[in-house]
This record gives sequence, C-alpha cells and structure tokens, in this order.
Amino acid sequence: MTRSPQAPRPLAAGNWKMNGLLAARTEVEALGRRIAAAPPACDVLICPPATLIRPFAGAWSGQGIAFGGQDCHAAASGAHTGDISAAMIADAGGAYVIIGHSERRAAYGESDAAIAAKAEAALSAGLVAIVCVGETLAERDAGSAIAVVCGQVDASLPPAATPDAVVVAYEPVWAIGTGRTPSSGDIAAMHAAIRERLTARFGAQEGPRFRILYGGSVKPSNAAEILHLANVDGALVGGASLKAADFDAILDAYRG
Ligand code: PEP
Repeated sequence: MTRSPQAPRPLAAGNWKMNGLLAARTEVEALGRRIAAAPPACDVLICPPATLIRPFAGAWSGQGIAFGGQDCHAAASGAHTGDISAAMIADAGGAYVIIGHSERRAAYGESDAAIAAKAEAALSAGLVAIVCVGETLAERDAGSAIAVVCGQVDASLPPAATPDAVVVAYEPVWAIGTGRTPSSGDIAAMHAAIRERLTARFGAQEGPRFRILYGGSVKPSNAAEILHLANVDGALVGGASLKAADFDAILDAYRG
C-alpha cells in the first residue's frame, strides 16, 4: 500500500548527533541551494549540535530548511548543569526538538515518563516535539516489537499532544547506524499499528494527521521505497544527513 493523497505533509529530518563544527555550514548552504533549485514536497529539518542552531537558523531559516535541537530538559530553567531548555532552543531559532532518541534512552536511562515530560516542555516553549520510539533486536526476535512500540507511543506522548505539535519517529534500535532496515512489510505494519494507536487515543479526525517518520539507515538507495509506504510521513536520518548531496538525494523521494 502507498501513501494516500490525504496523508500529512511529510517531514525529512536530519539528526546530526554530536557531529559538525561551524565549518559544516557549507553543507547547509549546499542543501539550501539544491532545495531552492528543486523544492521537494516535504518539510526539511536539520537538528545540528545545539551550538550550531543559532548560526544556521540565523542564516537559513525561512529558506526551505528548519532547524531544531536533539534533546531538551523537562524543566524551563534551573540548576541543571550541562542541559538545555526547550525555550533556549526556541530562542536560538529552533522550531523542533528530538525527544527520546534511543541513544539517549540507552545512555541516560530516559524513561517513557521522562520523555513525555520533555515533550510537554517542548510544547510549552512552542517547539514541535519529535518523539522517538523503537524496539531492540531482542524484542523484535521475541515477536513483541509492535507491543513494545505501541506501549512507548502511549506512554511517551504528553496529554497535550496534537498533530501539529508532535511528530512520532519509529526507529528500530537495531537499524540505527547499522545499514540494516526492516522489510517494507514490517515497516508498513509498524506504522499502521502506530496510526491505529494514535487514532484510538486522539480520534478519527486527529489521529490520521499525526506525522509518523521512519528512521534507521535511510539512505539514497532505499529512501523512495520506504518513504512511499502507507503511513510513512517522512524520515529521521542520521549519517546520511551530514552530507548535502546524500540528504538531498533522499529528498528526491518527494520530487515529482
Ligand atoms: C538516527 O540516529 O536517528 C538514525 C536514524 O541514524 P542513521 O540514519 O544513521 O541510522
């Protein structure tokens, strides 16, 4: 099954993780040029290290690329050395923030409840929260992938979630940075299950409006096949978002 014409406008999001210095602005510049020359039918987002949000957003916001953070604290301010608040990301020119990436769930023990609190803080600051969910290989092998992910969707989305303010990113942990991806059938089945969950919770009007991204080893060679699946409303891209040429080739999936 392929995407329906009523599906939400897709989002192609790049997660640079802890990569990139100011010199990487040449990649953003190159991407901006390609987007201006051939605009894709999707929103484009780059989430660089927090130090680069201000210089990038200052130079390129409003020119076809939005910018965002990779995490935020649940509190608005206070004694949290080394952390960044949602308002600080917004103040730097960010419009989105990734919350609950599996690397943070694993490295910092972030729970679903902590992620929901961070997402709530993001919404309060006017950011769009990209909430990440995904099963481990052991959970997939045990046949519990859909139950695990739907449980994460239930518990990680804050009560105030709306389709305009929250994006769900399905990222199988075992597919991130490994070059491995689930089959198209498995991706479609998971996205359909997430859609069903969102519709059960938010209703028949709002549920179908949420964007559900796929993430995990998306690259130019597999982007079109994955991104044209039903209920796949974009991608969260790690490694392949670092180079303008690669990220732009992924955007080709949304060019006519
Ligand atoms: C990610 O870290 O969100 C990700 C999807 O990484 P990669 O595309 O490199 O697998």
